[in-house]
Amino acid sequence: MTEVDDGVIEPLAYRIESTSESFSTGEAVTGTTVDLHITYQKLSAAETEFTRGNMRVPSGLIAVLCIYESSWILDHMEKATISEVESFVFGEESTRRGLSEHLGATELALNQYRLAPGDGLPGGLHTHIDQEEVFVVLDGTATFETMNGKVTVDEAEAIRFGPGEFQSGKNEADSELVMLALGAPRDTDDIRIPVDCPDCNHETLRLNFSDKMTFICPGCNGEHIPRNCLNCGHEDLRVTLGEGTQTVVICQNCETEFERPPLQG
Ligand SMILES: [Zn+2]
Ligand SMILES: [Zn+2]
Repeated sequence: MTEVDDGVIEPLAYRIESTSESFSTGEAVTGTTVDLHITYQKLSAAETEFTRGNMRVPSGLIAVLCIYESSWILDHMEKATISEVESFVFGEESTRRGLSEHLGATELALNQYRLAPGDGLPGGLHTHIDQEEVFVVLDGTATFETMNGKVTVDEAEAIRFGPGEFQSGKNEADSELVMLALGAPRDTDDIRIPVDCPDCNHETLRLNFSDKMTFICPGCNGEHIPRNCLNCGHEDLRVTLGEGTQTVVICQNCETEFERPPLQG
C-alpha cells in the first residue's frame, strides 16, 4: 500500500486554471495550463516525454499519469462529462459511474463513486490478486479498512493497494465522499475474501460468479455455497474488520455479526 499526497506527487500536480491551450513538440508551455482533452491527443514518444516534463495536471487526474507511465497511447480521443455518464444507485443514494466503458479504456478500470455518509463501496474486505487499485479522493474523506487497521484518505490524497492487499472503502464522515477508483489491468477475475477454507484451512476464498455467487478455495478447489443471513434472510453479508486483525461478517440489513460467512452443507 502506498499513500501519496500533493506534496509527494507535486512535480505532476497542479490546478487547471485555464483551458483549451494547445501546443506541439518544441513549443514552450511554461506557465501554461492545459485542458484534459489536450492530454488525450495522439502523441508521439517525443511529445509524450515533452508533456510529462512540462505539463502539470491536477492531483485528481492520476488516470492520465497512469496512461503515460505505462507508455500507453490511445488510438483515439474520447471525452466524457462525468455528470452525464449513466449512474448506478446503491446504498443511501450513493452512485457509481463507470468511466472506462464510456471512454473506451482498454487497460484501465475507472469509476467515479459518490458515497453518502455511512455508505461503503460495494462488497466488503476483499482483494484483487490480478489487479492493483488506486483511489483518489476528490471531495470528503474516505476510510479504508485494511488488515492492519483503518487508514483515512482526505481530499487531494490518493491511496494505492497492490494485488493481494485486502481493503474496503467507506464514507465514515458526515459529508459526501467523491472519489475516483482506478484499477489496472482493467479486468479482474481473481477476487478473494479473507476467510479460511473450512476444509483445508487455506486463508482465502475466491469469489466465483457463475449463476449464483459461490466461494472457491484456491488451496483444495472445494466449492462453498454462502447462505443468506441466518437472522433475517438478507443476502448482503460483508466481511469486515472486527477486533484487531480478526475479521467478522456483518449482515447489511439487520447488522447481525457472524464469526465467518454462513455456508451451506
Ligand atoms: Zn480448501
Ligand atoms: Zn440479517
